[in-house]
Amino acid sequence: MRLFIVSLVVSALVVGSACSTAADSTFRIAIHGGAGTILRENMTAEQEQAYHDKLSEALQAGYDVLDQGGKSVDAVQAAIIVMEDSPLFNAGKGAVFTHDKNNEMDASIMDGETLDAGAVAGVSTVRNPIKLAAAVKDHSPHVMLSGSGAEEFAVANDLEIVDKDYFKTERRLRQINEVLERENNMTDSGRGADLKLVDEKFGTVGAVALDKFGNLAAATSTGGMTNKRFGRIGDSPIIGAGTYADNESCAISATGHGEFFIRAAVAHDICARSAYLGLSLQEAADAVIMDKLVEMGGGGGIVGVDPHGNVVYSFNTPGMYRGSMGSDGKSETAIYK
Ligand code: ASP
Repeated sequence: MRLFIVSLVVSALVVGSACSTAADSTFRIAIHGGAGTILRENMTAEQEQAYHDKLSEALQAGYDVLDQGGKSVDAVQAAIIVMEDSPLFNAGKGAVFTHDKNNEMDASIMDGETLDAGAVAGVSTVRNPIKLAAAVKDHSPHVMLSGSGAEEFAVANDLEIVDKDYFKTERRLRQINEVLERENNMTDSGRGADLKLVDEKFGTVGAVALDKFGNLAAATSTGGMTNKRFGRIGDSPIIGAGTYADNESCAISATGHGEFFIRAAVAHDICARSAYLGLSLQEAADAVIMDKLVEMGGGGGIVGVDPHGNVVYSFNTPGMYRGSMGSDGKSETAIYK
């Protein structure tokens, strides 16, 4: 009998909390499509519109998942797939070229409810690296796989494999050719700085979301930096640097000069500052992006969301493709500061 009463009380509590979750069904998704020297004077009205349209499409894809009661970790993936499939961004189809004129992509995803995470680095044949990162999270005991092993894992998990030419776009080819030409004209002593040569290096995509159940998630996908070599890997696939999510603090996806973002542990540092110092997410993000990174010399930015659905952007570059959409169905996108 006592057991029966206890179980009645427990069910009442469970039903009660389910109701309060449903009543408080705020949800939100926010994305970025890379930060850098993105200036109004360098863009045509058509180009601007193309970015706004693609950002809106990505937001809508994430929104649909959340609106239908899906999880934030699936919403961020849905938004990223739209941007990976677009040649506009430096991820998937529009990935930048390496020094050897290949495309090597990195991606990661993190579930703030469980702290489960998956990441891939240096993959060249998987159409949607973010799907592979999610598969690593869901179907392997590991967090990060790289290169040919990651590609073997993609095949074993029935992910779409494409010919390497799929990733080759004219715009990115022009970029690498320009960079290589500039590099050839440099003195030997200047050459080591090749990764710093181009502004076109940015363009990574990322997404963060809060679902109806209060769960946060973050994901990031990139082609890395133009002219990278020697198997260079940036911050995007590194949990704590380019991507981080914890229901207790925040979800962050970063974009920028990866070497600095790794050394500053950007995504985790922002969440830790907001949790430990009691800062708002905007204050924590600005402390890392506008102060710490600027002092170090690292350009870039982040998009983030806190457990209440507050979206923040912080970037120390002239522009960052970005946008957000929430349970009210309103979506906004922006490019410049
Ligand atoms: N963070 C990326 C990297 O360093 C580049 C970017 O965000 O555009 O690989």
